[in-house]
Amino acid sequence: MDPASKLALDAFKNDKESHILIRQEICKSCAEKYCLYVCPGGLYSINEETGELLIEYAGCLECGSCRVACPYGALEWSYPRGGFGVQYRYG
Ligand code: SF4
Ligand code: SF4
Repeated sequence: MDPASKLALDAFKNDKESHILIRQEICKSCAEKYCLYVCPGGLYSINEETGELLIEYAGCLECGSCRVACPYGALEWSYPRGGFGVQYRYG
């Protein structure tokens, strides 16, 4: 089974509030935007109108890559509250 098919088996229970908070004032002056490239779910994007960094937190795989990759400490990252977040079905 390929990785994409395995990921499709995962289930998500979404909280109302994001477990990843973005300090937009820092991201505004970030040229590299590593978060756009490291997230295995491709959950980060840029709002073309406002230039703000967006995160689709509901699809987060809780890998922590974005927090490690950001060199400017712009992400306040915590695990989802108990009972919420991803449930892996295939390792
Ligand atoms: S989260 Fe970090 S890497 Fe991503 S845009 Fe903001 S400052 Fe840059
Ligand atoms: S923790 Fe992993 S899956 Fe979640 S937003 Fe960050 S890079 Fe993407």
